[in-house]
This record gives sequence, structure tokens and C-alpha cells, in this order.
Amino acid sequence: PVLRVAIMGLGSYGSRVAEAMQSCKKAKLVGVISGTPSKIKDWQGKYNIPEKNCYNYGNFDKIKDNPDIDAVYVITPNALHHDQVIRVAKAGKHVICEKPMALNAKEGQEMVDACRKANVKLLVGYRMHFEPHTLEVIRMRNAGEFGKVLFFQGLCGFKIGDPTQWRLNKQLAGGGSLMDIGIYAVNGARYMVGEEPVWVTAQETKTDHEKFKPGVDETIQFQLGFPSGVTASCLSTYSMNNLDKFFLNGEKGFAEMQPSTGYGPIKGRTHKGELNQPVVVHQTVQMEEMSDIILNGKQPVVPVNGEEGVKDLKIMDAIYQAAKTGEKVSLKL
Ligand code: NAD
Repeated sequence: PVLRVAIMGLGSYGSRVAEAMQSCKKAKLVGVISGTPSKIKDWQGKYNIPEKNCYNYGNFDKIKDNPDIDAVYVITPNALHHDQVIRVAKAGKHVICEKPMALNAKEGQEMVDACRKANVKLLVGYRMHFEPHTLEVIRMRNAGEFGKVLFFQGLCGFKIGDPTQWRLNKQLAGGGSLMDIGIYAVNGARYMVGEEPVWVTAQETKTDHEKFKPGVDETIQFQLGFPSGVTASCLSTYSMNNLDKFFLNGEKGFAEMQPSTGYGPIKGRTHKGELNQPVVVHQTVQMEEMSDIILNGKQPVVPVNGEEGVKDLKIMDAIYQAAKTGEKVSLKL
């Protein structure tokens, strides 16, 4: 069976997902939801989307009556995810929601609850969970090839441009670099270490108060502590390029990935040599696997469900709290 998907939000990432889906066998782009009629027209022509599968933000609840759409992929600014996902769930369709799934853990939990109540699946767009180099490092860790894991470092950032974009608007983004790019270090720390953190400390620094308004973090460094004693040290920033690196160290070996979460080929090496897994289009593999998860109940190696998204949000809530108060925050995930 093929998962028939409508994309909500035809922006830059939505376009990337649409292109990647053209190579999918188990997932197909069949519908769109957008507030811009000209974009709908473009996409209809490009992807052969019938008029009856086109919706706008006012009328998309009617998707309930459309038997030709199985799932909606929400790819809009962060602040909109909560209400949009809940509306899709109420319309009885499965939902894939981009990261961060919501602005905080409370919102995220409401989304999980709404999807459970509506008996639809909720997945978060964590594409790295299906990336072959990443999966190989996780396999090696599970097989004990690094020995006891001791330390993780995650560095995630880029220099952000246009100061008027939604990513720098607290109302739409819910925060700054941590919400957008630091989340990869938060999520990565969990799948690389293979445990859930029990404490967080964090420090925020800001060099440009004009560009990064109150509530929009420019740079946050944070540390996570795990039950076995592993610690993680991470950096999230909107002010540095060439920052996309994971390092995992254990008693018997290490893994180093750079780039570690970008779209391009992931590269890395371990104490055993270069990682040379197949290079894939992340979004193509992601949608193939998500089709299997939604339609066939397949269990991924690393979860991508709503609960997984809420865990990251709980950690990010704690990071913001720790940065604000200067205190160590305890976590129970
Ligand atoms: P974008 O600005 O390029 O696209 C956002 C789209 O939402 C636009 O088409 C815009 O018209 C539409 N939109 C609908 N209502 C809007 C409103 N009220 N205000 C502003 N725009 C509105 O952004 P993007 O880069 O495509 O990001 C969208 C989502 O995808 C974000 O949650 C982001 O974090 C996520 N994302 C994920 C990845 C990934 O690798 N998984 C990569 C990029 C973005």
C-alpha cells in the first residue's frame, strides 16, 4: 500500500519534501494545503494534484470527507503546528509534523492526546532517525563496540540571514536557535547516548540584541546528564557557520560525524575507520519508512512518534529554564 500524503505549508522545506517524495515507492504526494492560491496552482501543475485534493487554512477540516488522502504533513512555522495538527487529527487523518513539534511540552502533549483520541498516528519529521551513517553508529553502540559510553558533544548552528523571517519572530518560532537547530543536538544526544537525560544546565549569550529580540536565543550552550553518568555538552547558535558536528566517546572507541545532521552527505569515522554507508536523500528514506510505520505498524530503530517529540520539548523547556535561572534543572522523561 502507498501512503497518500497532503503537504500543509508550501514553503522551502515543504518544497524539498515534495521533491524527495517523487522518488518514493511507498508514499505519494496527492494533496496540498496552502493560503496562497498561486502556489497551489504551481504545485498542481508540477505534481499532478487534482483540484479536489487542494485546501486552504480555512477549509482543510473538510479533508475528513476525502477518502483519497491518508495523512497530512504539517510543514508550517513552529507556532502553527499545535492547532493545525489537532485539526488534522479531528479530521481523522494521520499526521506528520515538522520539528519542533510545538512551542513547549504542554502543547506537544495536547497534540499527542488529540491524536490518540482521534485514533490517528502522529509522527515528527525526524529525518536523521532513518539516515544510514547515523543508524550504523547507533548499531555499533548497541553492540557494545564503543564500550561504556562516556561523553557526547553536539555542535549545531548556522549564521541566520534576513532579520524579518519568522525564525526570528518569537510569536511564530517560539524561541531562537534552540527551537530550530539546537533541537538536533538535543535529539542527537538522546539517540547517540541511548539514554534519557536526568538533568540540564545551560548558558545563553547574545551579541546582537537588535536581531535577536527578547525570547529569541542567539546562542545557547547546554549540558545534559544521563543516568549512567554520561554527560553531553552542546552548542546551539544562529551566529556561526560550519557548525554541524557530533562526537561520541566511549571506553573502547569513538564516533565522530561532520556533517552530522545537514541535508548533504553525512560523513564520519569511528575508531574502526571511515563510515561509508550509502548516501541517501534523507526525506525520501524518511517518507518510505514513515509509510511503513503508519500503514504497517513498523517499529523504527529510534522512535519518531509524538511522545519522542514531547521528550525533546521537555528538555528544551528545561534548557530555557536553566539558562534563565542559572540553575540545574532535574528532568523525568
Ligand atoms: P518557510 O518559511 O520556508 O515555509 C513556511 C510556509 O508556511 C510558507 O509557505 C508560508 O507561506 C506558510 N505559512 C502558513 N501560515 C503562515 C503564517 N501565519 N506565517 C508565516 N508563514 C506561514 O519555512 P520552512 O523552512 O519551510 O520551515 C517550516 C517548518 O519546517 C518549520 O517548523 C521548520 O522547523 C521545519 N523544517 C524542518 C527541517 C528538517 O530538516 N526537518 C528543515 C527546515 C525546516
